[in-house]
Amino acid sequence: MSLSGLVCLLRRSLLQLEGRIIQAAGLDRQFAPALAVHGSNILPQTQREEENAESSFLDNILWMAAPKKRRTIEINRTRRRSEHFLIKVKNNIEPCVECGHLKQKHILCGFCYEKVRKETAIIRGQISAMEGRPLNTPAQETVVLYDSESPGEADKNKRIVERSRKRPPWFSTC
Ligand SMILES: [Zn+2]
Repeated sequence: MSLSGLVCLLRRSLLQLEGRIIQAAGLDRQFAPALAVHGSNILPQTQREEENAESSFLDNILWMAAPKKRRTIEINRTRRRSEHFLIKVKNNIEPCVECGHLKQKHILCGFCYEKVRKETAIIRGQISAMEGRPLNTPAQETVVLYDSESPGEADKNKRIVERSRKRPPWFSTC
């Protein structure tokens, strides 16, 4: 071997050693070329390892719920407009005994419920205006007195709320 061949071999091995040191230190990304050049030997080893890891990640997780075939629009529309999604016809409707509005059997009448809810809200508002504290503590028995009603013997220790209207027929005294 001639002297020039020896120098060339030495230079090539030094360049390889430098490249490996740079790869091991993680500095190869800083010196990566800005222009991509087509060639398999130019890419460093670490990038190939990352590509392999990413493909295995895709194989394991992202392909799990992927549909294998496209469903046609006819099949999708048949499913979406199936009988299962239609509102069922109700045959259990009857008039309310109290007010006459139509309601479902075994379900509270919405009209009556709204009447009771409004009256109860007014009574609760009166109680909180009288006492100025939250309604939930402490528990105290309450008597609601409507027009031309007076507290009886049993109502002595109870909270008394007076309403300036006629007693509704649905609000019983006991
Ligand atoms: Zn009703």
